[in-house]
Amino acid sequence: MRALKLSMVSILLFATAACVTTNEVTGRNQFIMIPASQDAALGLEAMTKVRETAPIVETGPLAEKIKRIGDRIAAISDRPELDWEFVLIDEPVLNAWALPGGKVAVYKKMAEAFEDEAELAAILGHEVSHAVLRHGAEQVSRGQMQNIAVAGLGVIVGSTTDDPEIAQAALVLGSVAAAGFVQMPHSRSMELEADDIGTLYMARAGYDPRAAVRVWQKMKQMKEGQGGQPTFLSTHPSDDKRIDRLQAKMDVYLAEYRKARR
Ligand SMILES: [Zn+2]
Repeated sequence: MRALKLSMVSILLFATAACVTTNEVTGRNQFIMIPASQDAALGLEAMTKVRETAPIVETGPLAEKIKRIGDRIAAISDRPELDWEFVLIDEPVLNAWALPGGKVAVYKKMAEAFEDEAELAAILGHEVSHAVLRHGAEQVSRGQMQNIAVAGLGVIVGSTTDDPEIAQAALVLGSVAAAGFVQMPHSRSMELEADDIGTLYMARAGYDPRAAVRVWQKMKQMKEGQGGQPTFLSTHPSDDKRIDRLQAKMDVYLAEYRKARR
């Protein structure tokens, strides 16, 4: 029994170590239990579910604008090869989200509130960054860790094994996770990271990065005006904090922008 326990502990340690990867874009260590190779399948699966229930607008000026700006930013991102898709959802929601593998949606209310090309580019840059930086998979993995603490070690072994049967179990676990991607709020650090990388991306794509500051100023005004919190990025980090962080690095963003415009 003691030997078994010991080997389980060593498996856990091994599996945990195998899940911590250094993000090539940010240099930050991330704990992610879903292999990058599964991102595309998970994103597609979740997107298929979204298509079954959400009123996705395929044509028209607003849908086309989102696709055009999104594609332009994705092309200069660190993962241009992902199967990027940018859609408009016809719902009065002040929100946007990104799924693993590059599926991005903007709700109509959000798209209309930020009609200005550069402001929309700031929102799309932020979402593209979430997908590039694998924040959805990271957030789900954090959730899974909590489940594992309750359910035992089987799950964590499954997600890093080469055994096809156990790998299949991990895939099922992944599909449960896929359903949660859309609603799952990101952590504070992930949001600030997406603001930073997203603003770099928009600038590289040729959009004035100062629009990112305007987005958060407007978001703040809208919250104050309506008395309620929009779901997009919820309460933390605060809009003031985001604005401060963006302004502190604006020289760097503007330098990228000028390079892109040359
Ligand atoms: Zn975000």
